[in-house]
Amino acid sequence: MEKEYYLILDIGGTKTTGAVFTRDGHPVNDFFLKVPSVTYEGENAVFENTVAVGRKVLQETGIDASQLIAIGAPAPGPLDHDTGLIIDVPMMGWKNFPLGELLSKEFGVPAFIENDGNLGALAEQRAGVAKGENSVLYMTVSTGCGGGIVFNGEIYRGHNGDAGEFGHMSIDYDGVACGCGGKGCLELYASGTAMNRRMRADMKNGVKSLVFEKAGFKEENINGAILMEAAEEGDAYAIDFFKQEGRYLGAGLGNLFNLFDPDVFVLGGGVTKSAKWFIDDMMDEINRRACREVERDRIRFSKMNDLVTIYGAYFMIHDYMNNQM
Ligand SMILES: [Zn+2]
Repeated sequence: MEKEYYLILDIGGTKTTGAVFTRDGHPVNDFFLKVPSVTYEGENAVFENTVAVGRKVLQETGIDASQLIAIGAPAPGPLDHDTGLIIDVPMMGWKNFPLGELLSKEFGVPAFIENDGNLGALAEQRAGVAKGENSVLYMTVSTGCGGGIVFNGEIYRGHNGDAGEFGHMSIDYDGVACGCGGKGCLELYASGTAMNRRMRADMKNGVKSLVFEKAGFKEENINGAILMEAAEEGDAYAIDFFKQEGRYLGAGLGNLFNLFDPDVFVLGGGVTKSAKWFIDDMMDEINRRACREVERDRIRFSKMNDLVTIYGAYFMIHDYMNNQM
């Protein structure tokens, strides 16, 4: 049988998504399989789960492994794209874990791994809201703040492949201590996780808001969705909370515009669903810090949502194939 398909296995912190793509970039049967990732159960658990997703996707789409050209696997970093090694991801139990090699053995084709932030940037530059732009930065604002950089249409990885860790850019010299060893890292203020943590602390401290009423005063019920509902209903706390979120993001983006002056900055991730509540304050903060005015059109919001890394993985394999010919 002719080899003409790419298998994509997107290994995230909460879920793993699988799909088979044709060479020209279409998901076979528009089928995407999503299952929870098996984290904190040792180095093989999440891998076996990923392989099972791959087998199931092939079965559901009626594609045989012998028809595959390659595998693309977006994964959490730090990782080494060239050797397929995941350096250190405690959540997965992976330390120098040869993900690329093992996937390749399992399915009998080359496997390429890449940081999901980098793939987000690639997907947006090739087919998303930054299509055709030369220099594109991408940042997802969700559990953390992962980022990626595309220059001249290619991923910029840096010396070790760690470029684009925007979430660990400090916006407060003596701020909150971070797992990376730094202080005041952007994601400790601007990520969805940080927002939830701040809201929970405010509730504990007796701050009054519709948000906490909606959550039944239970910490576990507090999330971005009810924050947005409360803002829609005019709750002052919720509206101010988003304004502050805009200032945090703006502080980070202002630095990044001064560093990179990208054509376009794409924001993705769950938090951006509430962009209308923070974009004005974010733009104000960016422009308070940027050396030259940043026009609003240079900040765009991803429309690919949670498929962005999957499409990025498709383009990663696509480039590799084209360079082979
Ligand atoms: Zn950090």
